[in-house]
Amino acid sequence: MAKHTKKFKTEVQQLLDLVIHSLYSKKEIFLRELISNASDAIDRARFEALTNPELLEVDDNWKIKIIPNEKAGTLTIVDNGIGMSAKEVETNIGTIANSGTKQFLADIQKSKKDAANPEFIGQFGVGFYAAFMVADKVTLVTKRGGKDQQAVKWTSAGAGNYSLEDTDRKSRGTEITLHLREDMTEYLAEWKIREIVKHYSDYIAFPVTMDITRTEKSSEEGAEDVKTVTEETLNSIKAIWKRAKTKVTNEEYNDFYKHISHDFTDPLKIVHFAAEGITEFQALLYIPSQPPMDLFSADARCGLHLYVKNVFIGDDIKELLPEYLRFVKGVVDSSDLPLNVSREILQDDVIIKRIRKSAVGKILGTITDLKKQGIDDYLKFYTPFGKTLKEGIHSDFDNFDKLKELVAFHSTKSEDGKPVFLADYIKRMPEDQTEIYYLTGDSVKTAADSPHLEIFKSKGFEVLFLIDPIDEWVTQRLTEYDGKKLKAVDRGDIDLDSEEEKKEKEAKREEENKEYDDLLKHIEKKLENEVKNVKLSSRLTDSAACLVADEMGMNANMERIMKAMNQPMPTSKRIFELNPNHPVIRKINGLLEKEPDSSKLADYIELIYDQALLTEGSQIRNPLKFTKLVSELMMDAG
Ligand code: ADP
Repeated sequence: MAKHTKKFKTEVQQLLDLVIHSLYSKKEIFLRELISNASDAIDRARFEALTNPELLEVDDNWKIKIIPNEKAGTLTIVDNGIGMSAKEVETNIGTIANSGTKQFLADIQKSKKDAANPEFIGQFGVGFYAAFMVADKVTLVTKRGGKDQQAVKWTSAGAGNYSLEDTDRKSRGTEITLHLREDMTEYLAEWKIREIVKHYSDYIAFPVTMDITRTEKSSEEGAEDVKTVTEETLNSIKAIWKRAKTKVTNEEYNDFYKHISHDFTDPLKIVHFAAEGITEFQALLYIPSQPPMDLFSADARCGLHLYVKNVFIGDDIKELLPEYLRFVKGVVDSSDLPLNVSREILQDDVIIKRIRKSAVGKILGTITDLKKQGIDDYLKFYTPFGKTLKEGIHSDFDNFDKLKELVAFHSTKSEDGKPVFLADYIKRMPEDQTEIYYLTGDSVKTAADSPHLEIFKSKGFEVLFLIDPIDEWVTQRLTEYDGKKLKAVDRGDIDLDSEEEKKEKEAKREEENKEYDDLLKHIEKKLENEVKNVKLSSRLTDSAACLVADEMGMNANMERIMKAMNQPMPTSKRIFELNPNHPVIRKINGLLEKEPDSSKLADYIELIYDQALLTEGSQIRNPLKFTKLVSELMMDAG
């Protein structure tokens, strides 16, 4: 391939401009980024070597070498990782795949954060492009591992375009040369490089080396000084998860998290443990402090990185964690699995199953500890990940008992908008309350305004608001807590009265039923295509009417969710309940006696039905007609 020049994609140029013009003071992070990339590339080469041992024959002395050249003003980072083909260079170096970086760019564009706070840039990995913080020209020479690969050379000054051409390179790997800016030559100093590597890249599992030249005075008089060059390893190499907890600093833990997660904020919790006995493995797991952008997308990254005896097997190994814990990032290193373990056999492997069980236990234990620290600490976890955790209620039978203590919901009695645990709900239940009440909906606001709550409010009974779509599934599994049934307030019959109250009301209800019998039948006929039946309500105190699902039927919220998911829906008619003590219902009843065939009666029936639809958040059938009827009513009233 002859040399040719190409333009950067817009978003890459944007990032480059940002990096080049950044006033960020810790420019040294460029080295962390380049070493991190080199380490990933070696991981990949080692993995490929499992099926293609030829790679090992060529070179298995895994390392990352840093070569400062004071005369030329260049700093070179060489690795013997997997390398890149010309095509890979174009896609990998020419686009931004990292979601953290994409989000960062979007944030910057919105708020111009960088202009205000240059320190911001260092919080996240700018990846390869960080090189341009210190260099005015970068050259990358790389050769993909494998047979008959052509080495390529990529060069750019970071402004607008880059060039690509074929070149010669003996062996597999990548070599990145930074032509340092004049004011950045401090990064050529031995002590500086040592310091940066120790600080940011000590956890890297491969040696990061540098040739160290020492000059010794000759013992013989008059003779020239003796120069010795020794290649020294600058990092401690031992994989961070293999080290004792006490030997790892928080900063190292956090740096490693950023290295594997592509997140640029520190994690919320670190779970580092080793298992010995039947199954031996080390695990270093993290609960992030913010959700990744793809948490709810169909192709969300989930799973952990898997190493076998220190050899990287793969990332996103789904079998290591249940899907509802997909927000957890981290590494598992097993000494029991065979090195040639294939992704296909992982699914049924007993060792993997044991590791998974133990990892889930540790994570749920950590989340439980967070809960013990108080609701404010717990919300740091629960706000971003509560929805995902709730999926476990439905899917993780083994841990159901733990999970039901960890889920929390808003309620009619939440303080400062903080959700409540079921245990707290039970504790403050009035003595005469026998069930746990809840209402599903799409927001706290609409749930709080629902007429279904009226009778509960008047009795002082707390009602939970289940406002996440997943809650509809949660309630299918979580049907009881501490011996108390969970009951939807917009479903089936409600029976809140004591025996005494019941007796008192029974006589009254009988009378009301007689009084309204004709009206109920009349409306039932009018709305026969819309509702299942019409009856007098025992849950309304203020509103005129509402719709409820029958015990097994679908409520409005579930219907909306299914629609949003494009799921086929069986038609489910709801029960239309009327409040016999409401003046509007009385008025309609009077109208039925006086003018049973009037169009006014028909209009009123339609209006109260539409009102009930609106308050449950459903769409009304004919908004134009509804508006017209309301306008007419206003004119009449005037
Ligand atoms: P990130 O590492 O966050 O994906 P970078 O911009 O740092 O983003 O790198 C982009 C991609 O370029 C990497 O994902 C990798 O595929 C490739 N890459 C970078 N450096 C190397 C290297 N030293 N060896 C092989 N591939 C590399």
